Amino acid sequence: MKSFGTLFVGSLLASGAVLTSGAQAADGKPLGYQDTPLIPGTQWHVHDGLRPQPKVVTPGTNSTEEKPGTPPSDAVVLFDGKDLSKWRSGKGGEAHWKVENGYAEIAKTGDIVSKNEFGPDIQLHVEWAAENPPKGSGQSRGNSGLFFFGRYEIQILDSYENPVYPDGQATAIYGQMPPLVNASRKPGEWQTYDIIFNGPRFKDGKLEKPAYATVLHNGVLVQNHTELLGNTPHKKVGTYEPHPENGALRIQDHGSANRFRSIWLRELKPVDSQ
Ligand code: MG
Repeated sequence: MKSFGTLFVGSLLASGAVLTSGAQAADGKPLGYQDTPLIPGTQWHVHDGLRPQPKVVTPGTNSTEEKPGTPPSDAVVLFDGKDLSKWRSGKGGEAHWKVENGYAEIAKTGDIVSKNEFGPDIQLHVEWAAENPPKGSGQSRGNSGLFFFGRYEIQILDSYENPVYPDGQATAIYGQMPPLVNASRKPGEWQTYDIIFNGPRFKDGKLEKPAYATVLHNGVLVQNHTELLGNTPHKKVGTYEPHPENGALRIQDHGSANRFRSIWLRELKPVDSQ
């Protein structure tokens, strides 16, 4: 890009296409961290702000932009816009997010957790919209997350013109792998996540096979069978701890009033064992 001159770069920035490596956050500070451990197999620190920013891609339109998509016939419907009866509060008791007008809105009442457990291989569909108008910047803006087995986070974040460390933006495997591209829509616009999550397998207390995640964001492939290095803590390299092959799905309340509508999943079974 260096030979294209300032006019080109200026017009890129003006059009909202964003920011190459070494980008700064909205507050002018460097992004992320360099005092964190290296992610094994990479040259990048956990949450490294110098890691190249995923390209911005404008997603195509789809049938879910104006109204919720409908689940396939064999899906387990976890939320259809009416109530959160399939969920409980992560703090215990009933889920207390606000439900109105066909969506659930995060209400600063804590995470919600599915009452049932699923696994080990799952297809999950989630429609969500970032808080609008947006509040804050970076990791404070439109933050939520989908935790498989309660411990592996696919990040939800308002990543529309909101630079953050790449392994913390929307659809990142948090702290591990940025998306291939940034296919985010504007805050307030409905977005889709379609995730195939292969849970890890453990044998005799040891990891036998790691977890993998494939993610489409608004129909755009952003994680292509990405191997997870373990769980997804803040500022640490994730590790695996043995756990059962089934687990609950958790949706994070990070204080942003994001909205959710159609949420469904399918447990993936080999054709010979259905
Ligand atoms: Mg999050």
